[in-house]
Amino acid sequence: MSESSTSVALVSGGSRGIGRAVVRRLAQDGHDVAFCYVSGEEPARELQKEVAELGGRAVATRVDVTDTDAVRAWVRDTENGLGPIDAVVTSAGVTRDSALVLMADEDWHTVLDTNLDGMYNVCRSAIFEMMKRRSGVLVNLSSVAGVQGHARQTNYAAAKAGMIGFTRSLAKEVGPYGIRANVVAPGFIDTDMTAALPEKAVKEAVERTALRRTGRAEEVADLVSFLVSPRAAFITGTVLEIDGGISL
Ligand code: NAP
Repeated sequence: MSESSTSVALVSGGSRGIGRAVVRRLAQDGHDVAFCYVSGEEPARELQKEVAELGGRAVATRVDVTDTDAVRAWVRDTENGLGPIDAVVTSAGVTRDSALVLMADEDWHTVLDTNLDGMYNVCRSAIFEMMKRRSGVLVNLSSVAGVQGHARQTNYAAAKAGMIGFTRSLAKEVGPYGIRANVVAPGFIDTDMTAALPEKAVKEAVERTALRRTGRAEEVADLVSFLVSPRAAFITGTVLEIDGGISL
């Protein structure tokens, strides 16, 4: 067991990208990790196996975070199977980029439902048990787009800004119960989400980034690991940007 006092972590969207790196890192830190995915069964099973080979425990479950009942059942089953959830990390997210003038209603709703409602469903399902135990930590994956705004991402920026308002409010609400809630807002990170972008967009993002490179999912996972750990015991309600200086 690591220096961390938490033992069970729940990660939404843990099968790929940043969530995958978070699952690995929290398992290395000594947590039992329950994570969900929505469609990618194979990467989820591979990750579960990889963590087991490293001597940790990760349990993959197919859960659509937009489905309130499914999320509630997942949280309940995790508590029954692994024990009380000490740490929640919401990483499940999607983009559907478009200029507002051309935006399909479906793309607006999919992005809000997955990023914002999905985070609500997970946090809402876990919070009562944390309050009863008077301890817990939540980390929600927003984006610099939610802080700065980003053209062609009104849907995504609205969801990510909503996550910030939610998390700050929750931090005030549950701080007296010893529960911490923080936001991590990454810049451009190399994952499947950004792999779909045209080369020109990647080049422009790198040029706008002070460190002149894109970030790695493992770098974000290191920050999440820190926020979950007792080293961050006096940090709550913050938005930590991890973006190589893209928002300077
Ligand atoms: P990613 O590589 O596309 O992975 C997304 C993950 O979310 C996958 O595990 C996916 O599962 C899961 N997911 C998507 N919709 C879901 C749903 N309805 N229910 C359950 N799981 C769902 O994305 P990423 O780049 O790691 O992004 C992770 C988070 O960081 C997101 O919230 C994103 O908005 C945020 N972020 C990313 C960047 C970046 O540059 N990459 C920058 C800022 C913020 P399946 O494999 O089953 O599809």
